[in-house]
Amino acid sequence: MKKDSARMRKVKSVMAKLPMMLTCAEFEAFVLDHLEGTLPKRQRLIFRMHLKVCRDCRSYLAAYERSVELGKAVFQDPESPVPGEVPEDLVKAILAAKQ
Ligand SMILES: [Zn+2]
Repeated sequence: MKKDSARMRKVKSVMAKLPMMLTCAEFEAFVLDHLEGTLPKRQRLIFRMHLKVCRDCRSYLAAYERSVELGKAVFQDPESPVPGEVPEDLVKAILAAKQ
């Protein structure tokens, strides 16, 4: 356990040195760039840190990635039927992240 707390202290000291931390709204603005891989290195680091500490944004990102995948699946196979309904847990995750 001693090792963990030393590690946490280190993480906190690194975080304290960062010029800025993301708010959840800023995180949301970065999601698209993150998925496209166009986030600059520094923003990517801050983005990942927020993801580690913020459960809401983790579920938001997971829901976002899932909806992108659903969209791609439909796009790649136009003959396939469009999913009739959005999965209930996806809706819940998006709503929870928005609150
Ligand atoms: Zn957040």
